[in-house]
Amino acid sequence: MPERITIIGSGPAGWTAAIYAARANLEPIVYEGAFNEDNRLKGTLPLGQLALTTEVENYPGFPSGDLTAFLDTSIDEKKRKYMAPHAKEGVSGPELMELMRQQAMNFGARIITDDIAELDLSERPFKLKSLGGTEFESHAIIIATGARANYLGLDSEEKFKNMGVSACAVCDGAMPRYRGKPLVVVGGGDSAMEEATFLTKYASTVYIVHRRDEFRASKIMADRALANEKITVKWSSNIDEVLGDDENGVTGVRIRSTIDPEKTEELEATGYFAAIGHTPNTDFLKGQLQTNDKGYVIWPVSHRTNTSVEGVFAAGDVADDHYKQAVTAAGTGCAAALDAERWLAAQGLE
Ligand code: NAP
Repeated sequence: MPERITIIGSGPAGWTAAIYAARANLEPIVYEGAFNEDNRLKGTLPLGQLALTTEVENYPGFPSGDLTAFLDTSIDEKKRKYMAPHAKEGVSGPELMELMRQQAMNFGARIITDDIAELDLSERPFKLKSLGGTEFESHAIIIATGARANYLGLDSEEKFKNMGVSACAVCDGAMPRYRGKPLVVVGGGDSAMEEATFLTKYASTVYIVHRRDEFRASKIMADRALANEKITVKWSSNIDEVLGDDENGVTGVRIRSTIDPEKTEELEATGYFAAIGHTPNTDFLKGQLQTNDKGYVIWPVSHRTNTSVEGVFAAGDVADDHYKQAVTAAGTGCAAALDAERWLAAQGLE
């Protein structure tokens, strides 16, 4: 018997889709990904990009910091007993993802810790094959495999991940190690402008290191960054190495001129933010769904999560090169489950 609905991916979109599909009695099966070296190196382990961050301050419902005083003084004694222990002190990315996973499990989602390596979308029910070799069929599929941040690929970047190397200023920028200190952002697109401008809230100085002598970013965002007194641009420069040590993590970067490769300079910094774009995790689709010029899955109908293949839905960052937030991913995960549920009902497969 084919599965009714298979969810591929285990970030906020995948788990939200699983929660909604399970509550609709669709008995979803979730392929959450495999724990293997290949996924670790690519940044595509189960639980997605949030599992690579620390505290999450912008996911609604989880205010950061110690809330004991607020709870003691502002929440009625009777209501307090309904509040989960974690409601006292914000939430970390990995914790949020474990909670979502558990929430999906509580409603009966079946979770398989494996990748979907191959799928055939040419006829229904669709055929899927996992990395571990399991072959099965499914009437509907939700693709929620997310995207991964691009890094330059330096060994020193890898070494200091979570110790000053990040690809998400919005996630990590407010951490104590970045406050009042010089920081480095690499890239010249809108993300680099946005991240650098955002980081000036905390940093003493933000260096934007860009390999050319003009930005790719939109004029308005570039102008805003250039007008910010805390931002210094290092034009026509590449990052040679992220500098640091085991105790302190990142302590700076060495940059090299792209015009005169003999010319290097060391910048002191406690943080290094890569803002050189993201890559959607769509390799396993092998071109079977329509994507945009950056490889993100297209939703052909506005405000619907249907893809170019009937019965296949997409949610979260794999179909979003614009917002890329946990809460927007969760929102489209919900939408995909509802769209899939209605589609299955229309096929008489509910
Ligand atoms: P992007 O536009 O592709 O820019 C990537 C930047 O990284 C480019 O400046 C590129 O340099 C640089 N880069 C790429 N590979 C590099 C390497 N190996 N070494 C050094 N530099 C490298 O990506 P993005 O900035 O993430 O933006 C993605 C999309 O999201 C865009 O459409 C953007 O408009 C949109 N976005 C919008 C907003 C907003 O409106 N608020 C915010 C963020 C992103 P070159 O310029 O030399 O190629």
